[in-house]
Amino acid sequence: MSQTPDFEPNSFSTAKQDQESQNQHFDTLALRTGHRRTHEGEHGEPIFLTSSFVYQSAADAAAYFSNEKQGNIYSRFTNPTVRMFEERLAALEGGERCVATSSGMGAILATALAFLKAGDHVVCSRAVFGTTTAMFDKYMRKFGVDVTFVDLTDLSQWQTAVQPGKTRLFFCESPSNPLSEVADLKALSSLAHQHDILLAVDNCFCTPALQQPLKLGADLVIHSATKYLDGQGRALGGAVVGNAKLLEDVFAVIRTCGPSMSPFNAWIFLKGLETLRLRMEAHSRSALQLANWLQTHPAVEKVFYSGLESHPGHALAKQQQRAFGGIVSFIVKGKRAGAWSVIDQTQFISITGNLGDAKTTITHPATTTHGKLSDEAKAAAGIVEGLLRVSVGLEDIADIQADLARGLDQLA
Ligand SMILES: *Cc1c(COP(=O)(O)O)cnc(C)c1O
Repeated sequence: MSQTPDFEPNSFSTAKQDQESQNQHFDTLALRTGHRRTHEGEHGEPIFLTSSFVYQSAADAAAYFSNEKQGNIYSRFTNPTVRMFEERLAALEGGERCVATSSGMGAILATALAFLKAGDHVVCSRAVFGTTTAMFDKYMRKFGVDVTFVDLTDLSQWQTAVQPGKTRLFFCESPSNPLSEVADLKALSSLAHQHDILLAVDNCFCTPALQQPLKLGADLVIHSATKYLDGQGRALGGAVVGNAKLLEDVFAVIRTCGPSMSPFNAWIFLKGLETLRLRMEAHSRSALQLANWLQTHPAVEKVFYSGLESHPGHALAKQQQRAFGGIVSFIVKGKRAGAWSVIDQTQFISITGNLGDAKTTITHPATTTHGKLSDEAKAAAGIVEGLLRVSVGLEDIADIQADLARGLDQLA
């Protein structure tokens, strides 16, 4: 972190900071990476709400536009506040470069546009965010990219699905939404690399505070910053992280096609990253407590949380993750009616599709987040009518439990 103001107009990164931050630890990087103080001496990260940037002369402008000089041009692809967020998230994921996007879906779309062309093939786990499934299934197919959906945890299905020379991308989420299935990321990445395939991991549920997929062999990490990176349910954003060469291709898509992050949202996410590890640990602690309690409740038929020893992905999650995250799903008695009555008897838990908020939220996946899936696809993804998903927030866990107990006790 440079203590002296940087007076060079429009200039990009300083080597000094890059060198220093290599030796720093997660919590320091989360607070300090990316901010180069301006001549105003501000302590907090400034928000650069400007669409374009100005030059000293016509020749200077030409130098920036021709890439002879590296610097700010236009906020669709170069904005100092967005760059701070990109540098900070890259540091936290252990990646060389990050490109920020307008939303999580923007990040997935940019990845697809960067690395796929007509005739290519993608293997994607069935248990991914519903809109991700739709993007591959509907829009990528429309442009001639084929996709095969496989079981996240069954490596042999990934292997069988590979079409040598055609398959370019493996895409997965681990742990998955909503059933908390865990992929063996090292095994998946070595299978991918045997066939010259890129492995992209949506790290939304763990965040780099709990899991760093690049260190397990993934090529690209995808984020919906909308969730835990913000952590307070305020803004939409996304990001792709990886090595500089791959990210240059993603950057080119953002620059040309335009799903860029707003500088204001980047500032919100910068603030979110500062407390990310503390929040993820608190979410994980409460989620484990809630999962243990739910397991003993007579109205609960099954609990899905990789922190439980009974969960089939527990051992793997323990190896790959620092904690088990904040999402707990469970099946209650009474199918849809039972699930809806538990939701409707809560008093403060928010009934909403979002997750990763400081506030606890509750969702009935079968009729909301996964409502558009066919019955067959729902069955394959384990989305039954009695399933509820809770994103455990930072309220007192005793109060969260009491709010759920009201409906559950009646079903028991
Ligand atoms: C929400 C979500 C997305 C999409 O992110 P948006 O910011 O809503 O576009 C992608 N992946 C996962 C796992 C998500 O939860």
